[in-house]
Amino acid sequence: MLKLKGCPKCQGTLNLASDMYGRYISCLQCGFSRDLPDVLPRTAVAAPAAPDVQAPMRKAA
Ligand SMILES: [Zn+2]
Repeated sequence: MLKLKGCPKCQGTLNLASDMYGRYISCLQCGFSRDLPDVLPRTAVAAPAAPDVQAPMRKAA
């Protein structure tokens, strides 16, 4: 999978690949490479836990 203009160094094309060690990206233009986390917590990014602002404050009687 290619990601255009994804390189932080040269704005070149990043190639998303994976090997036995996991996923990584490498730049086709300058050779920049970086490992990617094994598991992407997509849900954590898309839907962060809502702060508990709606919880009513109850006093013990
Ligand atoms: Zn690059």
